[in-house]
Amino acid sequence: ADTPTPAYLDNLNAEQRDAVETLDGPLLVLAGAGTGKTRVLTTRLAHLLETKAQTERLHPQQILAVTFTNRAAKEMQERVAQALGRPVEGWWLGTFHSLSARLLRRHADLIGLKSNFTILDSDDQVRLLKQIMDAEQIDPKKWPAKQLMGIIQRWKDKGLTPERVNESVEFANGGAKHLYKIYQERLKVLNACDFGDLLLHCLTLFQQHPEVLKQYQNTFRYILVDEYQDTNVAQYLWLRAMAMVHRNICCVGDDDQAIYSWRGAEVGNILRFESDFPGAKVVRLEQNYRSTPHILAAASKLITFNDGRLGKELWTEIDTGDKVFVKGVWDGEAEARLIGEDIEALQRKGVGASQIAILVRAGFQTREFEERLITLGIPYRVVGGPRFYERQEIRDALAYIRLVAQPDDSLAFERIVNVPKRGVGKATLQTLHQYSRDQAISLPAAARDLLDTEELKPKMRQSIGGLLGDFKRWREMLGNSSHVEVVETVLDESGYTDMWRTSKEIDAPGRLENLKELVSAIGEFENLTSFLEHVSLVMENAQNDHEEKVTIMTLHAAKGLEFDYVFLPGWEEGVFPHQRAMDESGVKGLEEERRLAYVGITRARKRATICYAANRRIYNQWQSALPSRFVDELPDEHIERSSDTGLGGHGGNHSPGAWGADDWMKMPSWASDSGSTPSRNPVSGAGDRKFASSGWQDRVRKNVIDVKPDGETSYSTSSNSSKYKVGDTVRHRKFGSGTVRAVDGNKLEIHFESVGTKKVVDSFILPG
Ligand code: ATP
Ligand code: MG
Repeated sequence: ADTPTPAYLDNLNAEQRDAVETLDGPLLVLAGAGTGKTRVLTTRLAHLLETKAQTERLHPQQILAVTFTNRAAKEMQERVAQALGRPVEGWWLGTFHSLSARLLRRHADLIGLKSNFTILDSDDQVRLLKQIMDAEQIDPKKWPAKQLMGIIQRWKDKGLTPERVNESVEFANGGAKHLYKIYQERLKVLNACDFGDLLLHCLTLFQQHPEVLKQYQNTFRYILVDEYQDTNVAQYLWLRAMAMVHRNICCVGDDDQAIYSWRGAEVGNILRFESDFPGAKVVRLEQNYRSTPHILAAASKLITFNDGRLGKELWTEIDTGDKVFVKGVWDGEAEARLIGEDIEALQRKGVGASQIAILVRAGFQTREFEERLITLGIPYRVVGGPRFYERQEIRDALAYIRLVAQPDDSLAFERIVNVPKRGVGKATLQTLHQYSRDQAISLPAAARDLLDTEELKPKMRQSIGGLLGDFKRWREMLGNSSHVEVVETVLDESGYTDMWRTSKEIDAPGRLENLKELVSAIGEFENLTSFLEHVSLVMENAQNDHEEKVTIMTLHAAKGLEFDYVFLPGWEEGVFPHQRAMDESGVKGLEEERRLAYVGITRARKRATICYAANRRIYNQWQSALPSRFVDELPDEHIERSSDTGLGGHGGNHSPGAWGADDWMKMPSWASDSGSTPSRNPVSGAGDRKFASSGWQDRVRKNVIDVKPDGETSYSTSSNSSKYKVGDTVRHRKFGSGTVRAVDGNKLEIHFESVGTKKVVDSFILPG
């Protein structure tokens, strides 16, 4: 009998419907922006569950769906539930990272981790790399640890374990590979991994344990992937491995929106799909449902300046709308003022703030808009910038919480052992580090082990012992008090809150408010485990109220999103296209910048406004700026130019005379006065550097931690025996020579000529 077609299929055009209904076999949906690729994926998920659950006993657990951000995953979850009229649970929906983390926790032991392994953020990574370089005596000034981190990340993106790296890079005179190896070993000892490891370890796991891979290959009957053009090699290998048995893999993407090659993404993955999966069906979508014809035409024309595209036609039924505005302004402040005024005008017309976005090329650009919007009282959110959980006091507090939940978290321990000050100095930490390395145990474990020896000064033993005792008590508290109470107690009794209460720093009150806010946030979770998981994976949704807000974000982070009104500031040579992209990657870099511009324009539904300033202050210096070449590449018939650069004329390269050589010399009076600061919003100098990265690093900076169920604790300690015996004459690095009186594991009681009898560990006996 004919079953009626489900309602959700009615909202699709013929090609989309074809893509949704072709459930079996490999399928590639290759289509431009706004053609409904993501909608196809969502509907396909609903359709799978609707049609196959009964007939073929398809369980949600047999579906694997990959999105580019956690936010996108959440949205997909909601959309599918809406289409089906019921919630769906148990399926594997998330980013490559979150899915890999979930998988690894189940099999951690097989690759030498415990299931509660910590996922390091990039600060932790750098700190660890510094330690390693220090031990290897590599000059950190000449070879910055951050650079090494980048190199290692690229290798991981390519799926290369240290053994498989066969390229030699200049870093540390070719030593990077060796450092990478040590780094991986240290991570294992610390029961930790970094973001790149999540995928890399999965690949290793699949390789070394085919039976595990087999299990997943059999499980995942249907695989769906959004934003396929931005997968890197490791992700590609991961997917291909998963899809091998059932081969029901559906990937959607757009080669013109590949914007993450600097993070190792390979647009080749999408180009190769048909040869990877012979017999694959390819569906092209050409109708755009998002934007007005002017927006679409402007973006389409711009992207034709790139070579080697697959090429796509886009059309729309929408037949009205503004042209794309291109506005020249005097400087950054004028740009912020102009955009602020435009936003106010939109709001007066009843446009909701959530339908407005300012999309910047680099994070440092956000500050000026933030200040302007604050001044105007327009609520906004910065997506992808330094956020609540990245503030110093929050990270400190999180380290305390991590250490409660995870007794062997070395990096958390190191972060807070002397915060507030407990007199634990560099020398003590060095002793702990050396012992932890020597015994292959965590730092807290090393501290515990050395407490009953005289390797640590009595004062140290007292303060560290006190702290460790406190942690033990706090952990025990978890058994009979709420986790919120425990956190409050921890922050109080550790002296951390007091540290800020008595601080004279101007921002101390704000920090105390933040700590309070943190405690309320924790109250929204059942336990510390779920809270810490939240902090790590859902940070990009750091919204806790539902007020409508203007969104400020980088172009990279805006991928896949749409807004009625989009502002695209800073379209100047050097800013966008970004200088570094052009310097480092030449034409390729420029083309990626152009794709980024394409992504930017195509985020707009009703109106896109592009701005460029004639002057910019960069690192405290005023510079004149040229409009971006992308401005030039836009088709005149679809744009409306205006200019108020203070230079006369009507702006743009299209108005002869407007940008004459003489005009560029006409700098404002305060600009020549190089020493003093003009009385306008200062663009802060060096501080901006930390914003200069865009979307990806923001994501990576997340702090992913997983912990055991509350209250459960485990200690790793060494159980070594000593190579020394009673009667041996030895030299200790601090106490000089003496005679061994007693041996207890690796602990020795030695009678020293200078200081009498002491209990020490044999790690610190000098050789020979
Ligand atoms: P991007 O390349 O930017 O990720 P996309 O191809 O994933 O875009 P979607 O975000 O799925 O496109 O769709 C763009 C917009 O068009 C959305 O608002 C979506 O709801 C709408 N849309 C898609 N298909 C249809 C359709 N058949 N009828 C009406 N609206 C549609
Ligand atoms: Mg999409």
